[in-house]
Amino acid sequence: PPAIRKISEEHDKVFVTGCLEPDTSQPRANAAFVVLARNKELDGVIQSVKSIERHFNRWYHYPYVFLNDAEFNSTFKETITNYTSAPVEFGTIDPKMWGFPDWIDPKVAKEGIAKQGDAAIMYGGMESYHAMCRFYSGFFYKHELLAKYEWYWRLEPEIKYFCDITYDPFLRMIESNKTYGFTIAVKELKETVPNIFRYASAYKRINNLTSQGLWEMFVEPQPEEPKDVPEEDAKQSLPEEILRGDPSRASIPDIDPEAMEGEKYNMCHFWSNFEIARLSWFRSKEYEDFFQMMDRSGGFWMERWGDAPIHSLAAGALLAPRDIHYFRDFGYRHTTIQHCPANAPARQMPRSPFLEVTTKDEKKRKEEDEYWDSWDPVKENGVGCRCR
Ligand code: GDP
Ligand code: MN
Repeated sequence: PPAIRKISEEHDKVFVTGCLEPDTSQPRANAAFVVLARNKELDGVIQSVKSIERHFNRWYHYPYVFLNDAEFNSTFKETITNYTSAPVEFGTIDPKMWGFPDWIDPKVAKEGIAKQGDAAIMYGGMESYHAMCRFYSGFFYKHELLAKYEWYWRLEPEIKYFCDITYDPFLRMIESNKTYGFTIAVKELKETVPNIFRYASAYKRINNLTSQGLWEMFVEPQPEEPKDVPEEDAKQSLPEEILRGDPSRASIPDIDPEAMEGEKYNMCHFWSNFEIARLSWFRSKEYEDFFQMMDRSGGFWMERWGDAPIHSLAAGALLAPRDIHYFRDFGYRHTTIQHCPANAPARQMPRSPFLEVTTKDEKKRKEEDEYWDSWDPVKENGVGCRCR
């Protein structure tokens, strides 16, 4: 869609186009893989570690940090350590970072979650899933095992990389001053996030943030012009009890529409099961304020807000297209959705629509442009992927 295209128009060049000899000449970045998992997911984690080792980490040896809300058992730890020669650390998550915060009434939250289960909202009835989303939204980067790192690459059980990654994405991101990288953007299930955009939008307005060009990626194009909000209303802040968190609340409160931009969420988000990002962004005051405001609404419990739309909307509010990198050269699959660079018709590697045009061949240029105009990563399902 135009929004994705817009992300990088001038700024976001493909780092490397093609499998080259792995370049390990430069020193490593201060970075680690982060894997949240349960003991019972061992097989899925092995699959993921095997894949990333084969296609990248056997040359680069980046350390792994495994996190779990319960203790990893010795089978898990010993088995995983056997699949990599890189340093591995295992950490348990403090209950303060997992589960209900003390300002929420667990009884109210549990009822809210049960209701979402009854409504057959995906993972809506699973308390642990809510806790996981909240952890990945506002806590993983505060875990003590991550304190020494500046960058992370998120890895999940049961993912697969198809193509060799023969350059260091952390170093490329540092060189080009990027903050957040993704491979897949998809649409969120509406019923999991009924009020998420009201809050994100209010955050933006309350803090007088003007879009740096990325916010538009998440806004549904409106047929009519949004009405102008008078200056006074624009400064209006949220009711105290929303910002404080109200333990007795049985649903997440509606935000005064005047605190919003009058826009609608298009449900688009970066799929966060893959992420390469700069931890200092998550640790910034701006991101923390954003998380606090989202959190205090109760939306992680009374709705089933995912960390993916949270990260994405925070990026929309705080970052610019030039801060984002689209790893279109990474072949990646998570469950049913994949991104495969070889899907580009009649070429091995898709050229970025944002690269300068390198060919003088008008017909070829036109072909490329048409391809990229019609290419929709939101719908892409990888049919005909030629990577392995
Ligand atoms: P999906 O990708 O949205 O279908 O959800 P997953 O089940 O893959 O969960 C996302 C990530 O959180 C994966 O890395 C899981 O291993 C992890 N995860 C989910 N729930 C829990 C949990 O209760 N405890 C722990 N330790 N990890 C979890
Ligand atoms: Mn998953």
